[in-house]
Amino acid sequence: MSDNKQFWFVVGSQFLYGPEVLETVDKRAAEMAQWMSERLPRPLVYKATVKTDAEITRLMLDANHDPDCCGVVTWCHTFSPSKMWIHGLGALQKPWCHFATQYNRRIPNEEIDMDFMNLNQAAHGDREHGFIGARMRLPRKVIAGYWQDESVLEELGGWMRSALGWDFSRSLRIVRFGDNMRDVAVTEGDKVEAQIKLGWQVDYWPVGHLVETMDAVTDAEIDAQMEQYRERYDFGTDDMETVRYQAREELAMRKILKREGAMAFINNFQDLYGMRQLPGLASQNMMADGIGYGGEGDWKVAGMTAIMKKMAEGLEGGTLFMEDYTYDLAPGNEISLGAHMLEVCPSIAANRPRIEVHDLGIGDREPPARLVFEGKSGPGIVVSLIDMGGRLRMIIQDIEVIKPTLDMPNLPVARVMWKPAPDLLTGVKCWIHAGGAHHTVLSTAVTAQMMLDFCEIMQIECVHITKDSTVENLKRELFYNDIAWKLKEF
Ligand code: MN
Repeated sequence: MSDNKQFWFVVGSQFLYGPEVLETVDKRAAEMAQWMSERLPRPLVYKATVKTDAEITRLMLDANHDPDCCGVVTWCHTFSPSKMWIHGLGALQKPWCHFATQYNRRIPNEEIDMDFMNLNQAAHGDREHGFIGARMRLPRKVIAGYWQDESVLEELGGWMRSALGWDFSRSLRIVRFGDNMRDVAVTEGDKVEAQIKLGWQVDYWPVGHLVETMDAVTDAEIDAQMEQYRERYDFGTDDMETVRYQAREELAMRKILKREGAMAFINNFQDLYGMRQLPGLASQNMMADGIGYGGEGDWKVAGMTAIMKKMAEGLEGGTLFMEDYTYDLAPGNEISLGAHMLEVCPSIAANRPRIEVHDLGIGDREPPARLVFEGKSGPGIVVSLIDMGGRLRMIIQDIEVIKPTLDMPNLPVARVMWKPAPDLLTGVKCWIHAGGAHHTVLSTAVTAQMMLDFCEIMQIECVHITKDSTVENLKRELFYNDIAWKLKEF
């Protein structure tokens, strides 16, 4: 990992048990943090065994002010009276995880006496600690289990990824090359709300400025970009001029994003004034490097693509901008086919992508170069962020990406086939009732749990469509959510 992002491990105690107990707790906490850090996506840095209100408050304020601290993990090895946590937890502005664990795995039958009980009373301490989180209605992740267990480390690591997504989101900038596609509703949204709730700065840059930047790109820069294309992809075209034009577009977009400190962008095929091709290969190759993209001006999906790519760093599987296109309604084996007119990220590719040049069929520009490939199979999710007017809603659906059942030799775009949970038809009904967009982020790396935790940290509404979903229950949930979110003061 190329940054210094980290998490803080804070252990609750008090003076009641004497200095020896505190020393033991301190030593054990350091040992646990060190051991776990070697197995987690980012270091868990042991900070202190805290005993007083002032100490806790100071530490939480320090966490707020440290840009590398992405969250605080607390645990009570002994009992830690929770009134002394009220000021600190009330001030904490970083994601919080309450880790209910224990130093020893088993109760030692012979050894156990009252000294042992005083030192090892996580079951006792974590309940007091849990109460104050509930009483203060604080967003938090609760993890329970032995700290060396694979499943527990996976849960903690998953939460760290959600918190890294939060950290990334707080400073995310999105460049809009043009405005949203005319007449379309779901790609619109309140950009001020998005900045308040998610931290995104979403700004417009004229297409004319992009064209000026493209004109200033040199042949040598394009040569270098073509070299990278050759390393990464096969060439299924001799039309080098068209591919070089994509390289020019990519170099210009990258320059503007770099200058603006942006990690996501949108464009709109209706707004390419002065450009000869819609960026296809250009956008796909940028997404391959972690940059978020949304078509037709969809900045919400662009932002979520960038965030989920950040959360997925180092994991197997792909994370990409996707669009539901068409169904295969074979009875009992219903499948959704997703693609986009060009911009499918090769992070999901099952084979080495091939650069091809084809006519677009819509718009009035020259045939663009694009990558063509099939998606790799595996369990995954699709995610959609929509603006409900007054609040944002995230919709997550469990899916199974399958090996495409057809060759589709005349389809000139990258394609992915999947079965949504609980089955295509119920899944579609649920998705439509929830208002999910046709644009999604599809991921076979980020889990639904990571997205649920992300929504909790962000304090936005979240709906999860699973193998157990029914239309009736989902409609009821949406109805209650509407009431709850209207009552909730933000
Ligand atoms: Mn689209």
